[in-house]
Amino acid sequence: MLSRRNTIQVMIGHVPVGGGLYGSTVAPVLVQSMTNTDTADAAATIAQVYELWQAGSEVVRITVNSAEAAAQVATIRQGLDALGCNVPLVGDFHYNGHKLLQAYPDCAQALAKYRINPGNVGKGSKRDEQFAAMIETAIHYKKAVRIGVNWGSLDQAKMAQMMDDNGKLADPLPADALMREALIQSALESAQQAVDLGLNANQIIISCKVSNVQDLVLVYQALAARCEYPLHLGLTEAGMGSKGVVASTAALAILLQQGIGDTIRVSLTPEPSESRTKEVVVAQEILQTMGIRSFTPLVTACPGCGRTTSTYFQELALQIQTWLRQQMPVWRAQFPGVETLSVAVMGCVVNGPGESKLANIGISLPGTGEVPVAPVFVDGEKTVTLKGDHIAEEFQQLVNDYVHT
Ligand code: SF4
Repeated sequence: MLSRRNTIQVMIGHVPVGGGLYGSTVAPVLVQSMTNTDTADAAATIAQVYELWQAGSEVVRITVNSAEAAAQVATIRQGLDALGCNVPLVGDFHYNGHKLLQAYPDCAQALAKYRINPGNVGKGSKRDEQFAAMIETAIHYKKAVRIGVNWGSLDQAKMAQMMDDNGKLADPLPADALMREALIQSALESAQQAVDLGLNANQIIISCKVSNVQDLVLVYQALAARCEYPLHLGLTEAGMGSKGVVASTAALAILLQQGIGDTIRVSLTPEPSESRTKEVVVAQEILQTMGIRSFTPLVTACPGCGRTTSTYFQELALQIQTWLRQQMPVWRAQFPGVETLSVAVMGCVVNGPGESKLANIGISLPGTGEVPVAPVFVDGEKTVTLKGDHIAEEFQQLVNDYVHT
């Protein structure tokens, strides 16, 4: 097991984050996601939060950007509770959070955490006043706060001051290092400001998101060394398709390997037709493939080669993986430990039997020129050989039987 950085433990509603310091036990790294519905549309937001939760999101953030949105937050919470969905909701506030939290106390109460971006709280003398109003609301309702700094909305007054000061140094920081230091200082100074206002340190989580992998790693390594707060990790604006997945995985994996990160979000830009749940699946797969947590049985499949002339085995691997994921909301409660099950779907005799024997249950499909039969291995032993037109259905039934015995 990788060792985790010890932190103060924070509760987001009923869910613990981080830990290891002051007598707390380290909580698992949590998967977080965010809706893209208009929060003022309560029905659509309830449906999407529920879908993300069913996919495995353990914390869900919703934007609270207007009076209409704030007015619906309590209704959204009630609607989710009625569905048996107790996932903590985080309100994402920018510019007007101080007004919304004060004008809509039921919104302030229904949320489990407030995300505050120090760069988008206000300008000049108003900044401190408005920041204080949000922190006082968090104190009053006993809510967690994420001080969430973002590269794209860094506090401009702070940046200007740091550039001035840096210019006067005999050995000034290069521009990229100065930017990273500004992000870190913005987060840590805002956290200290919140503590000075009376917020407990065990109500604070920090994030400093950037869109470049190397900068993200450097920023979080420094944050980890300079504070005891739990850290929320995410590469912001990671992008679309494989680029977003690869960039997020590269950045998060480096930090997770070093024990840094208590919640993670994979910020993918979905295709218009793509489900929002993809970011949850990718986040889970990062944690599971690194051996940090298990969420759903994963299918081991070979890439295929010239020994397979049809796409049959890829289709079977995809079918089994999709079906396993769909069963998890029910199976998770019924069969503790089922998420560690390993299933192999292999394309031919070269690596098929060997890989299938290493899985809990595996099948080696026939490659080109092989006898058209598919041996199945259960816990390392060949148990049955499938043949004919219904191999896929019969193998799925065998996996189902394995889970139920
Ligand atoms: Fe090719 Fe067979 Fe290896 Fe799959 S197991 S990649 S089909 S040789």
